[in-house]
Amino acid sequence: HADTAMYHAKDEGRNNCQFYSSTFTHQAEKRLNLENGLRNALLQNQFFLVYQPQMDIATGKFLSVEALIRWQHPAQGFISPLDFIPLAEENGLIIPIGEWALRTACAEAMEWLKKGFNIRVSVNLSPLQFKNPDLVKSVMGILSETGFPPSNLVLEVTESALMDYNAEILNTINTLRSHNIEISLDDFGTGYSSMNYLMHLPINNIKVDKSFVDGMLDDGKSLAIIRSIISLSKNLNFTVTAEGIELLEQANVLKKLGCDYLQGYYFSKPVRSGEVTDFLRKQHPIETVQIPRNTS
Ligand code: C2E
Ligand code: MG
Ligand code: MG
Ligand code: MG
Repeated sequence: HADTAMYHAKDEGRNNCQFYSSTFTHQAEKRLNLENGLRNALLQNQFFLVYQPQMDIATGKFLSVEALIRWQHPAQGFISPLDFIPLAEENGLIIPIGEWALRTACAEAMEWLKKGFNIRVSVNLSPLQFKNPDLVKSVMGILSETGFPPSNLVLEVTESALMDYNAEILNTINTLRSHNIEISLDDFGTGYSSMNYLMHLPINNIKVDKSFVDGMLDDGKSLAIIRSIISLSKNLNFTVTAEGIELLEQANVLKKLGCDYLQGYYFSKPVRSGEVTDFLRKQHPIETVQIPRNTS
């Protein structure tokens, strides 16, 4: 690409040498490599999931985890979802990648259930997946394939997935809800927060974005926003999760404000599937809820 660019520059220019930013071509090349890599990643099993525990304030127990995707590239090493999810959204690969994440989370969480941990799992869905008319079919197919109970599944969507919602999206949410799948609104307050969809869509949970939690101890505005989101959620009968808790003091203040669930490095970083049960056992050796044996 760099070569072609210089070629055109020479053709057009009368020796007024046009330098194409090498950082631009470098970025473009990196992006192209990433995109090609992304196509192989699924086939070559380069993705895996990690799980971050969410603490239920009422009981002090970790009753749910959020599944977060990881990409271990053979040459480039670890690549953050913040870098490859947007790319996968642009080229449509998010649909198969998202299905892989959902299937893997349900299959791995099913193993925890079989071990006697009655745990729920939250899976992130990109707006593109959420607007896909085949979503319900795909989710229900994965649940029956893995045997994972729908009432233990939470789907996290961001505000942009609900923006300009239409009858089809309302129908998608209603159908998922009729199977007792919960819907959680992720990164709340950072996008197009709208009272309109809060009023009309039967969601269950709101996640206060980490940016407000980051500021809450030294910035009155962040704290005021958190307080308002919690009160709004209570009044609308949604539960509230705060994400990005790094300090005990943040946890204590959020508890006082009536937050329901807490998630963040203070409690645990996201861990590999095998470590989830270790974590649960260590935190609550005798308090885990036993489920009937015949669920598999
Ligand atoms: P998110 O869904 O808002 O996930 C929370 C992010 O905050 C995660 O980053 C998590 O590791 C990080 N985090 C949690 N607690 C703390 C904390 O105390 N301090 C700090 N500094 N960070 C904390 P991660 O895993 O890098 O994921 C970033 C984003 O990528 C996610 O944000 C989500 O939007 C997206 N993502 C991850 N996995 C998937 C997936 O399977 N599908 C889709 N569509 N998106 C995903
Ligand atoms: Mg999330
Ligand atoms: Mg979030
Ligand atoms: Mg986020």
